[in-house]
Amino acid sequence: MSNCLSVTNAVEHAFCPRFTYFQLVLGIEQREGKRGTVQSGRAYHNRHSTTNKTYKIKRLDGIKRIELILYSKKYSFSGKIDEAIEAEDQILLIERKYTDYVVIGSTLKTQLGLLAILAEENTGKKVNQAIVVFDKTERVEVIVNVTKEIKQKALLMLKKTNHTISTGSMPHSSHDNRCLNCCYRKICP
Ligand code: SF4
Repeated sequence: MSNCLSVTNAVEHAFCPRFTYFQLVLGIEQREGKRGTVQSGRAYHNRHSTTNKTYKIKRLDGIKRIELILYSKKYSFSGKIDEAIEAEDQILLIERKYTDYVVIGSTLKTQLGLLAILAEENTGKKVNQAIVVFDKTERVEVIVNVTKEIKQKALLMLKKTNHTISTGSMPHSSHDNRCLNCCYRKICP
């Protein structure tokens, strides 16, 4: 893997591989920051990382870590862990989603798998679990076992992202509900 990608790049590739093509091959930036859902989600993340610095989910005794920017020398990618609890021998990832859509799908698994790899490589501690907090109209906490398979699939997604960039060809993707709010829908064939 020669290019230094971010976790976000691989997550977007998992959402739709054409994001990689439009954004990283053609250089067309997303205009997602203008969407209301993204802005509310950012405000929610900021609230937790700036005003709730000591608040901890009581699942594991340890030190709360926030906004860790990490790099993997082994796989050449970077990413940011918004929140985690670091215990003596393990790390618990905490991921917050401002949505009522409670699904642990491929984008979330890619994100958790890559963040776990970054945390393990940089601390030498295992990441076996994550808690995903879905919090919009109702708060739902889901425990996810970040298995070896999730980590391997996440690495594969990173590899596919790199492959799309190196070939420069537009990947196949079917049009479905994802396209309704997509910033590239007007230019996507
Ligand atoms: S319009 Fe649909 S297929 Fe095209 S980039 Fe967006 S989500 Fe992918």
